[in-house]
Amino acid sequence: MKVMALFYYAPNIGHRYGYTLSKENIAKREIIMEKITSFRDEYRFLSNFYQYPFAFNGLQYPNAEAAFQAQKCINDEDIIKYIQIKNPVRAKQMGKKEPGLRKDWDMISSDIMLEIERAKYAIPKLGEMLLSTGDAYLKESNHWHDNRWGHCTCDKCKNKTAQNLLGNILMQVRAELKIAHDADKKLDGSLSKENSTQDQNTEL
Ligand SMILES: [Zn+2]
Repeated sequence: MKVMALFYYAPNIGHRYGYTLSKENIAKREIIMEKITSFRDEYRFLSNFYQYPFAFNGLQYPNAEAAFQAQKCINDEDIIKYIQIKNPVRAKQMGKKEPGLRKDWDMISSDIMLEIERAKYAIPKLGEMLLSTGDAYLKESNHWHDNRWGHCTCDKCKNKTAQNLLGNILMQVRAELKIAHDADKKLDGSLSKENSTQDQNTEL
């Protein structure tokens, strides 16, 4: 039951766990939860522009943006050029003009983003930082009309329903980390209990 609750705010994966969440309930959930809507300053690490090298599919990328844009390519030599691109703005620009863009990109891009965020937060330090956001609702506000990955707050867009794909993915990865974290704690707890029982037995 706890697991269900943890996945509650990851509606895009709800079907895997045999339940669905209506749009109204997602909106309601969003209102009552604490929200992090700016991926800046202390929450800069949530942004794909945050500089922190991590490995994805056997290559080390300087940031998640470079890793993501690289996946638009089919050829290894095109993918590899992104590992050098430290400036995430440049990686994004290159990705936009990628001549070898995979035809199925729109279909697979959110699954790829999920895999990339899993790889990024597999780094213990970053995983701890993500867990430290508790159960806050995550959504990256922007002013460049991106209502797919985040939510644009310009006058034209602000009342639009944003898909918030990146935020949903981050909340999903956080829920997965929490389950793994809790399982580790439980295991540690039962091991130390076992050890103390052994100690007692030795004393006897
Ligand atoms: Zn806008």
